[in-house]
Amino acid sequence: MKDNRRRDFMKKMAGLGVLGLAAVGTVYAGKALLPDELRLRPPGAVEEYDFLALCVKCGQCLQVCPYDSIILEDIDGKAGVGTAYIEPRRRGCYLCELFPCILACPSGALDHDKADIEHIHMGVAVVANESACLALYNKPVPDWAIDRIYEHTTVLTPEERRTKKIKDIPNPSEKRELQIKLLKKVEQYRGKQCTMCADLCPYFPDPSQAIGMIKKGQGYVPEIREKCVGCGACVELCPTDVLKVIPRATYDEVYGKKG
Ligand code: SF4
Ligand code: SF4
Ligand code: SF4
Repeated sequence: MKDNRRRDFMKKMAGLGVLGLAAVGTVYAGKALLPDELRLRPPGAVEEYDFLALCVKCGQCLQVCPYDSIILEDIDGKAGVGTAYIEPRRRGCYLCELFPCILACPSGALDHDKADIEHIHMGVAVVANESACLALYNKPVPDWAIDRIYEHTTVLTPEERRTKKIKDIPNPSEKRELQIKLLKKVEQYRGKQCTMCADLCPYFPDPSQAIGMIKKGQGYVPEIREKCVGCGACVELCPTDVLKVIPRATYDEVYGKKG
């Protein structure tokens, strides 16, 4: 029964586009979840209602995340102040190989048995606004789209953020190194053809199993593929907000079974 309702919900959502979220909501374990409660949870999160019961709001996952991907619900959050989530447009998850967030979770809200890429399932990406894709018109990535990622990069000094010039500092933290490595990759697209979503998808070992660019008319558009885990990195990096993640949804639910 639960599965049928969930499938119906996903069908409706696929038909409406991701914006259907605002109108439909979802059901877990027989309890209604309002649409704005359907958050993207950190990797390894157990089923939503169990997650809400188990998350002790300790912030341990957030403290070990080198990308500062995880944030805690504030007083406006429907699941309770301090519940961990990811807002992918602000900062996606970059799928650390050892998933320190999962290993740091003391309560079982993030399942230690899921701390490898084969078990990660946060949701699935959808191409929600294809006509806004820069690659469709072979348009270059504008400066502001790259500058935006500097705003998301917490390890920078105010001067680095303003000047977009990164200083070499002695003994940088691993967190600084990783975030700057990402920033340098993003920089390579300034003024160039956009394929950022597909090139910088962190799914490993092979991002092309999660997303690729396909020919459309005179240009290209992204195509979401079966291995997408819904980490939301492409959502953060896309200059024109083409992609969304549907939390908890599976590829089959949204795109139908292959073969
Ligand atoms: S996998 Fe890494 S980037 Fe993603 S939430 Fe966990 S610690 Fe952060
Ligand atoms: S396509 Fe890649 S970057 Fe985008 S949500 Fe899926 S796994 Fe993450
Ligand atoms: S990031 Fe991907 S979806 Fe967004 S504009 Fe670039 S190519 Fe298009």
